Amino acid sequence: MSKKHKNESFSFFVEQFADLKILRYQVPEFEDLSLNQKKLIYYLSEAALYGRDIIYDQNFKYNLTIRRLLESIIKNNKGHIEDDEWQEFMIYTKRIWFSNGIHHHYSTDKFIPGFSKDFFLDLIQQIPENNWPVDLSKDEVIQKIIPIIFDPEKYPKRVCQDQSKDMIKQSANNFYENVTQREAESFYQEMINPTDDEPVSYGLNSKLIKENGKIKEEIWKVGGMYDKAITKIVYWLEKATEVAENKKQKESLQKLIDFYQSGDLKKFDEYSILWLSDTESFIDTVNGFIEIYEDPLGRKATWEALVNFKDDKATRRTDILSQNAQWFEDHSPVDSKYKKTKVQGVSAKVINVAMLGGDCYPATPIGINLPNAEWIRKKHGSKSVTIENITYAYHKDSLKSGLLEEFSFSDKEIELHKKHGFLANNLHTDLHECLGHGSGQLMPGISTDLLKNYYSPIEETRADLFALWFMMDPKLIDLGIMPTFDVAVAQYNSYIKNGLITQLTRIEPGKNIEQAHMRNRQLIAKWCFEKGHDENIIEKIIKEGKTYFIINHHAKLRELFGKLLAEIQRIKSEGDFEAAKYLIENYGVKVDKDLHDEVLQRFKKLNLAPYSGFVNPQYLPVYENDEIVDIMIDYTQDYPVQMMKYAEKYSVLPDFN
Ligand code: ZN
Repeated sequence: MSKKHKNESFSFFVEQFADLKILRYQVPEFEDLSLNQKKLIYYLSEAALYGRDIIYDQNFKYNLTIRRLLESIIKNNKGHIEDDEWQEFMIYTKRIWFSNGIHHHYSTDKFIPGFSKDFFLDLIQQIPENNWPVDLSKDEVIQKIIPIIFDPEKYPKRVCQDQSKDMIKQSANNFYENVTQREAESFYQEMINPTDDEPVSYGLNSKLIKENGKIKEEIWKVGGMYDKAITKIVYWLEKATEVAENKKQKESLQKLIDFYQSGDLKKFDEYSILWLSDTESFIDTVNGFIEIYEDPLGRKATWEALVNFKDDKATRRTDILSQNAQWFEDHSPVDSKYKKTKVQGVSAKVINVAMLGGDCYPATPIGINLPNAEWIRKKHGSKSVTIENITYAYHKDSLKSGLLEEFSFSDKEIELHKKHGFLANNLHTDLHECLGHGSGQLMPGISTDLLKNYYSPIEETRADLFALWFMMDPKLIDLGIMPTFDVAVAQYNSYIKNGLITQLTRIEPGKNIEQAHMRNRQLIAKWCFEKGHDENIIEKIIKEGKTYFIINHHAKLRELFGKLLAEIQRIKSEGDFEAAKYLIENYGVKVDKDLHDEVLQRFKKLNLAPYSGFVNPQYLPVYENDEIVDIMIDYTQDYPVQMMKYAEKYSVLPDFN
């Protein structure tokens, strides 16, 4: 246990409601940073928080209106505090804050309030006329917004992935307007030049709309859509350039500013390459339109931000992995024609986050590998991080939950997890992010668009399998980053258990699996369960009415991981849509109803929330004669207080954009 984790009195838990738990992360050793470093973190943090409204608007056109109504009601509330309906109102509002909108952050289903329409009407009436918070009039809110909130039929899903439907029309998110899926597909098809081997990410930073019969893009940039938020982001990024650690970092931040000012996707690629090449800086940020999971066509990127700094000690682990990237590529169990002959600069580090924003807040990833553009990854490599202060908070919290005891078959399994679970998970993330996503290559003329909505889960499956395969390789022991195979055994146990059982706690009764990472985990676990049946590699045991899956042959399971990895890599490299569809639909999507019911019942008894997110710390500058002389970190804000503060300070966009 390193120095930073000594503060055992730190309280990770904040609160729990609905299916959500709020935790707090610690920023180890922030106090020991130099003033310049603290300033850089502070400026980048402001840039991370000013994009908050963007993600709300991207998720759904009416999210900002609804959020502002709710926040105004909270501000103006007098005397409802004890009320049951008021409690329900707060839960609804807290869920919206958590999901950055009215649809569940994970399932993307709209959630319905636990209070009545009349109660809400009453609250609306109490908002003072002279302080009316939204552009729509009170009458318009009653006519238009109330049905959106209460009617389950209206905008039921943020992201529709049902191939049999027009996925664009059926998705409530705000990436397309008045265009059909076919129109959107052909719009971009025409843009793409198949002979261009350095294509920009077409459509990444815009909304596609049809107006007067003409289809066009509204670009997200200074002076374009989202102008007011992006202008603020640029302001704080400019401040950050003044305290940049070195020339490279400064250049890369300036290029990002250029991109925000011009909206030119070529500049975004140039920025990504500069950002990639900056491996020396201690502090780093992700800030932009990055991930494409929310667009059924896989083009439009949600806005996200994350500020972080390096954990030097833990980074030794990822340094060793990336120095050996070529060895891993050469020894992966995939066909040699799909392998990179020369793995480009995979840079990996372990970081601690200092601020989360946009789509990374409050629900955050535990690892990131960027950039996403395939040609950049191939030519310039990728940068990958494992976020250790977040995984540490999860680990600390998980030991208290009872989940481990409920779903583990034996004491030995529990012991192994307690002893090695933290390292096992981190190593898995390192391998997934730093080597997995960066591995392999596409055949000439093949692009990842060919897999359409199956691309994300296939890509995640590939990275997970890469991690699982190498997790049990003696190489990790030789390299000195894994002390014993027990770490791998612990990871296999928890991976299979999660893929077949525990992640079902996140699915509502009667629903299927939609989220890319969950599809990928079930695909792997279920496929291996089926293929290993004859040799009893994974065994299903029912004891006292409870189902368990245990692994009888870890080494044989590894062989199955390798076999599946070879097939998944082939699918990606060849752009084999039908094969991707077959695997995902047959193994990743459908849920065994009886098992699901049982798992939900067992889970309910534990009174746990299946999803977690985090409040941010606050950075409080200390001024002397208008000069910042120090920056203090504060962890005392609770969840609603933080949200109301953010609403006050970072609410910069109009209701409709
Ligand atoms: Zn991934």
